[in-house]
Amino acid sequence: MTAKNATTLSMTLSETKRALEELGTEPTKSLGQNFLHDQNLARSIVSLLDIQPGDHIVEIGSGLGALTELLAPAASRLTLIEKDARLVPRLRRVFSSDHITIHHTDALEFDLRALWGHGPVKIIGNLPYYISSPLIAKYASALSPASILVLTLQLELAQRLGAACGSKDYGAMTICVGRRWDIRLARKLPAAVFHPRPKVDSAVITMRRKSRDEIQPLDEVAFESLVRRGFSARRKQLHNLLPDLRPQWDSLSSQIGIRTDARAEDLSLFQWESLTRLASPAAAQHGTELFDVVDENDHVLRAETRETVHVNNFLHRAVHMLVFNDHGELFLQKRSLWKDRNPGLWDSSAAGHVDSGEDYTTAASRELTEELGIPSPPLTRIGRLTPCETTGWEFIEVYRTTHNGPFHPAPMELETGAFFPLSHIRQWATRSPADFSPVFLQCLPLIGTGA
Ligand code: SAM
Repeated sequence: MTAKNATTLSMTLSETKRALEELGTEPTKSLGQNFLHDQNLARSIVSLLDIQPGDHIVEIGSGLGALTELLAPAASRLTLIEKDARLVPRLRRVFSSDHITIHHTDALEFDLRALWGHGPVKIIGNLPYYISSPLIAKYASALSPASILVLTLQLELAQRLGAACGSKDYGAMTICVGRRWDIRLARKLPAAVFHPRPKVDSAVITMRRKSRDEIQPLDEVAFESLVRRGFSARRKQLHNLLPDLRPQWDSLSSQIGIRTDARAEDLSLFQWESLTRLASPAAAQHGTELFDVVDENDHVLRAETRETVHVNNFLHRAVHMLVFNDHGELFLQKRSLWKDRNPGLWDSSAAGHVDSGEDYTTAASRELTEELGIPSPPLTRIGRLTPCETTGWEFIEVYRTTHNGPFHPAPMELETGAFFPLSHIRQWATRSPADFSPVFLQCLPLIGTGA
């Protein structure tokens, strides 16, 4: 932002009306346009982001710039997303700077992959109320890099997200979003601070991403399905809504500490998680799998359990698979938080150990099926990594293949996954190598310059 603009812009009510007049336009109800004109509140909302040097701030629905003017001088990198074609030229004029990127697009269509690799991401928005729920679902999804979201919402939605167990606002959304995010209602906002005044009150919430230690490992798909079924009829007792669990209900309810006639709203997040873990035990890695221990020439010596192999740093075998689509983009998996190594980091499309008695290619095919849920396409071997501390003392055969998806990822293996252009991955890996598994960083040069 230029110094001149920085000092002259200041979205008071009269400035907001003047800006609209200059644009020859009126706020559009169908775009949820209620512009904030209280500067103290704008400052207070922005302060919730706790902007640090290096932060990449993303603003959804920048409008006339009430928040943007405070974000621009503080953010190392700022990405603005605005749908209204009438407002975008003004944003481009006022917030023209090398560190600011303006996207004229629907925030629901915005490609989240573009946000990876430019520093820690924090998201802010006085959201258009007509699409707040899908926007939260998207920007808080596994593919979102955000560590915190500061969102202004309709008060009713904010109360639902932050509701306490047992209250009337407590529901499936509270639990499903609350599993990964610590949600706080920061403050209520009266309608009078917006132009035009909305018919409803608003509130600002903060959503802070929970750390791995705060989340119980479980099958996410089973969890969401259980919660949604449980809340499908609030007044009904749970055992009537979950007939598949009825035969074990007495035991399940006593193990998670609820009454047998409990309703969905009586269960805390922790109890929903515990119920899922008991009802749908997720297959976790266990130390009893057998791997072949090999010598420095990769000749098999004997079989040992996974635990023994890892504890003793015995040389053993593994495979990494790089799956490209027809556009030459590489599918990266984001490792599940429950992996014993490199949890939550971006990695090769699929990877795994060679089981005892198995050869490399068979293991590669098996892992593609187990992790990505695809029958193995033809594989081309592109290289080999030799054992060292970084590879976890593994000989690793690296393969590439082509598949356009869809994939059916194993929930305990992958947090998420997506195809990325190779050029993007290379720049990202240079800027933020800590986002990737160290072995993937060694596989990357094996791809060569073309895809
Ligand atoms: N941030 C500004 C403020 O605080 O005054 C504007 C907030 S206003 C409640 C919502 C903004 O989101 C408007 O500028 C509107 O044009 C924009 N918007 C509406 N739908 C959108 C969408 N689907 N994608 C991106 N922006 C959208």
